[in-house]
Amino acid sequence: MDEFEAEWGDATLAIRTGHHRTPEGEHSEPIFPTSSYVFASAAEAAATFAGERHGNIYSRFTNPTVRTFEERLAVLEGGERCVATASGMAAILAACMGVLKAGDHMVSSASIFGSTVVLFNKYLSRFGIDTSYVPLTDLDAWEQAIRPETRLLFLETPSNPLTEIGDIRALAELAHSKGCLLAVDNCFCTPVLQKPLALGADIVIHSATKYLDGQGRCMGGAVVGGHEVVGEEVYGVLRTAGPTMSPFNAWVFLKGLETLKIRMAAHTANATALAHWLEQQAGVRRVFYPGLESHPQYALGRAQQSGAGGILSFELEGGQAAAWRLIDHTRMLSITANLGDTKSTITHPATTTHGRLSPEERALAGIGDGLVRVAVGLEDIADIQADLARGLAG
Ligand SMILES: *Cc1c(COP(=O)(O)O)cnc(C)c1O
Repeated sequence: MDEFEAEWGDATLAIRTGHHRTPEGEHSEPIFPTSSYVFASAAEAAATFAGERHGNIYSRFTNPTVRTFEERLAVLEGGERCVATASGMAAILAACMGVLKAGDHMVSSASIFGSTVVLFNKYLSRFGIDTSYVPLTDLDAWEQAIRPETRLLFLETPSNPLTEIGDIRALAELAHSKGCLLAVDNCFCTPVLQKPLALGADIVIHSATKYLDGQGRCMGGAVVGGHEVVGEEVYGVLRTAGPTMSPFNAWVFLKGLETLKIRMAAHTANATALAHWLEQQAGVRRVFYPGLESHPQYALGRAQQSGAGGILSFELEGGQAAAWRLIDHTRMLSITANLGDTKSTITHPATTTHGRLSPEERALAGIGDGLVRVAVGLEDIADIQADLARGLAG
C-alpha cells in the first residue's frame, strides 16, 4: 500500500483499494471467471507449484476478483489477511477448523446466529470440539467457563435480536490472559461501524450475504485476521476443503463495499428515527436499540461502535397474538428473517429464528413472545413508519 493510502478513510478504502489494473486499463474491477491459469513454460509451472514464484494456479486457491475483495475487506477491518468464503457459515467453519483440534474447548456467547449454534453443537462436537455458552454481557461467566483446554472465545455484538453489546476490549484481554483467541462475528456492524481487531480481537468473521452485499443478492463470507492464523491456518483449510467464494459473487460484494459507508449511515439514521418513534407508540412495551439512551449499554455501544446500526427489536403488549397481528397487517415490510438489505424486513423471533429453543430457553435468552425484530432498510422512513403504524393498528 502506498504511503498516502495509509491515510485514507473507510469510504475511500472501500472504493479504491485491492484492484490491480490489468493492461486493458479497465476502470471497474474485472470478473475473472476462470478455474485455472496458464504458465509460460514447464519451468514456470514447476516454480509456481513449488511456491518459489507468486502466481495463480487454480481458483480454489486464488482468483484475482476474489483477491480484490479480500484485500479491500482486510484493509477496512485493519487486518493483515482476509480469506473469502462461499457463505458466512463457511467462514465460521473454516475459522474453527483452522484454529481448533479434537480435545479443544470453546466458550461462546449464548446469543449467536442459530446455524452457528447447530454447527458447534451438532457438528464440531463430533470432532471432539466442545462448546460452553455464557451470557454475552456477563464477564465473570466468560472467565469461569474458560478451562485449561479452551482455545477460542466466540461472540457477535450487537446480539440478535435484543442488540445486547459485548465488551470486545475486555473479552480480548481475558482471552489473551488465558492463552485463547477471540473471534468476533462482525456481521451486524460491518467494519465501518466497528473494528474488532483494533479493540484486540484476533479473528473477524463476516456473512457478506448481509450488509457487505447490501441488496440481498449473493451468498458469501470472510475471515479476517493476522498472517499466521488467517493467512496460514484458515486459508489452508479453505484452499484444501474448498468452500471458496465465486468470482461473480466477489464482484457483487465489491460493488456493495463501494457504498458500504453511506449505506450504514443511512441504515443507522432510519433505525434511530424508527426506534424513537416506536418508543412513543401505544402497545409497545420496550424498544431494543443501541442508539437509544434507554439501552442498558448505551455508553459501551457509543465507545465501541461509530454508529448503532440497522437492527432493532421491540416487545409488544399482548404476546404472540399481538406480534403476529402486527406483522400480518404490514403491507410493505418483507416477512423474512434476512437482514442487511435495502428492503426492510420484519420477523417474529420466538416462532422463527429462535423457534427451536424450548420456552424456558427462550425466556432465559430474553426472547419474549411479543418480540418483533425489524432490520431497517433504506426506504423512506415515513413509509416504514406508516407501514408499522398500519401493523400496530391491525
Ligand atoms: C447470516 C448470518 C450468519 C451466516 O451467514 P450465511 O451467509 O447465511 O452463511 C452468521 N452470523 C450472523 C450474525 C448472521 O446474521
